[in-house]
Amino acid sequence: MGITSPNAAPCEPCDAIVVGAGLAGLVAAHELSLAGKRVLILDQENRANLGGQAFWSLGGLFLVDSPEQRRLGVHDSLDLARQDWATSAGFDRDEDHWPRQWAEAYLEFAAGDKRRYLHDLGLRLTPVVGWAERGGSGASEHGNSVPRFHLAWGTGPEVVRVFREPVERAESAGLVTMGFRHRVDELVVEDSDNEGGDNGVSGAVVGVRGRVLAPSHTGRGIESNRDEVDDFELRAPAVIVTSGGIGHNFDLMRQCWPVERLGEFPQTMLAGVPAHVDGRMLAIAEHAGASLINRDRIWAYTEGIENWNPVWPNHGIRIIPGPSSLWFDAEGNRFPAPNYPGFDTNRTMRTILSTEHDYSWFVLNESIIRKEFALSGSEQNPDITKKDWRLTLDRARSSDAPGPVEAFKKFGADFVVADTTEELVAGMNERSRGPVIDHDHLVEQIVARDRQMDNAFSKDAQVQAIHNARNYLGDKIVRVQKPHKILDPTHGPLIAVRLSLLSRKTLGGLETNLDAQVIGAGGTPIPGLYAAGEVTGFGGGGMHGYNALEGTFLGGCIFSGMRAGRAVAGSSAPGGDGTNGRGAVGIEATDMTRGER
Ligand SMILES: Cc1cc2nc3c(=O)[nH]c(=O)nc-3n(C[C@H](O)[C@H](O)[C@H](O)COP(=O)(O)OP(=O)(O)OC[C@H]3O[C@@H](n4cnc5c(N)ncnc54)[C@H](O)[C@@H]3O)c2cc1C
Repeated sequence: MGITSPNAAPCEPCDAIVVGAGLAGLVAAHELSLAGKRVLILDQENRANLGGQAFWSLGGLFLVDSPEQRRLGVHDSLDLARQDWATSAGFDRDEDHWPRQWAEAYLEFAAGDKRRYLHDLGLRLTPVVGWAERGGSGASEHGNSVPRFHLAWGTGPEVVRVFREPVERAESAGLVTMGFRHRVDELVVEDSDNEGGDNGVSGAVVGVRGRVLAPSHTGRGIESNRDEVDDFELRAPAVIVTSGGIGHNFDLMRQCWPVERLGEFPQTMLAGVPAHVDGRMLAIAEHAGASLINRDRIWAYTEGIENWNPVWPNHGIRIIPGPSSLWFDAEGNRFPAPNYPGFDTNRTMRTILSTEHDYSWFVLNESIIRKEFALSGSEQNPDITKKDWRLTLDRARSSDAPGPVEAFKKFGADFVVADTTEELVAGMNERSRGPVIDHDHLVEQIVARDRQMDNAFSKDAQVQAIHNARNYLGDKIVRVQKPHKILDPTHGPLIAVRLSLLSRKTLGGLETNLDAQVIGAGGTPIPGLYAAGEVTGFGGGGMHGYNALEGTFLGGCIFSGMRAGRAVAGSSAPGGDGTNGRGAVGIEATDMTRGER
């Protein structure tokens, strides 16, 4: 199968092969190159996609008891974060052994070294901390008790940059080699000293095999061709799989979807991630003996809108909403407490799917959209992504909605903007994928809610939540509109937004121990095989359990990528643990010139 190439690859011998040049792969490669190790990074996409999903991300980072929180008067602690994580994760399976340990280690990182690690690399944070996944069901239920969502100054591209630049410097120095358009199709397993051992595999992973794909000159995020032009086999003492989740593979998502917990898989779902998030490596690793756990734990969103200017197929954008929009099902019934915008993703998913329709509606007005609609994604936040203080301050002070939100209002297929309730409901019914909404029924519910606005207190739990949010300085300044009546014409026009379900994160994956070694079906590590990032459910095979607290995915990739890189660096000397006594054997043969470099 291997190709004998006249062109020797520059990474020879190689200490590790990293499969996937997303954030987790870059972090692992960075740590390895810091230790003076030689790394080969393979990715099925071209160089334009370096950094993977993280580039598109908003750059939200979960931190505990940070200076940013303290400056805003937020009292947080590791104990409080532990409590929130435990009640959200709901670990309840035997296979949660490693996920629990990753969760604890990650919490200590988020409350300890994480901020300094990123700061030392040059990453800075914006001063206002967001309050994601507020919960709303009680202190012992899912959700963040306090705001913890710290936004990277420069959003996702900046999170990528602080790792990409040192890796590129290591590339110039000859420590790192990048093989783009190299798609891994198989992990090479060979007999090892523990043949027939208790990991359920009779060997160690000694390399990878795959296909070289035809060059692609497409821009970042655009789906590329899968034309095969050659094959390759490459060897190293350690292989680190950092291939991401399953969010663009709807067949796989359907297979994994937890019908009994969330309801039937939706007929319509938008893709919140690029096409390369295909989940193929999971089955490839499983075939090599890896244990794959918690595959039914999926983190999809309920506030998806069709991107009027798509990059990848079926491209959806997530609204990150403030708490004031009213949320209705497809028939126009207001959802019960606590299904409020930004409170409890999985609960709302379950509630929506129990209606037997796969979409829902926000009803709000111009004042609310201006202050409370943020769109997830670096390209939807050009002010922060470009690190432009003037534009960012303009956004905070402006009485208009941010430019990208205005563009959705104008061009988005899901938006209805109307001066009267009759026009509003007519527009909603034009966009309906199901039942017709009754005007009077909808308006009656809005009026009932609006009557709760005459006092500074209320029996309506969502109105109480708005008052509560404004007790947090960050929300009051930039995120939560002053309480007012939705039907008050001075706050108009009225707006309705059709919300579809949106794929995003994979919470289960390859089971790994705290050294990022992949566990075999028999329960012990597979020699030579490591994994990090979303393919491991962000650590262990699912450190989030059933629910996420947000901002924990980039952080999970950074933490697990760091641990994988350090573990392999510590073990890659000949005879070290990870090499199973084989030492660096080098790349056997390849033609790196056929794929892009
Ligand atoms: C729009 C958006 C907003 C987000 N916002 C946030 C946020 O604010 N905060 C947060 O914490 N998280 C956020 N996330 C999630 C976070 O960005 C991802 O979970 C994370 O970046 C995943 O990184 P990864 O390295 O594990 O995988 P990926 O970024 O998916 O990278 C995997 C790489 O592996 C390659 N690959 C896969 N299979 C193979 C193969 N067989 N052979 C060769 N190469 C292969 C892929 O081409 C890809 O380049 C967001 C994601 C998106 C899309």
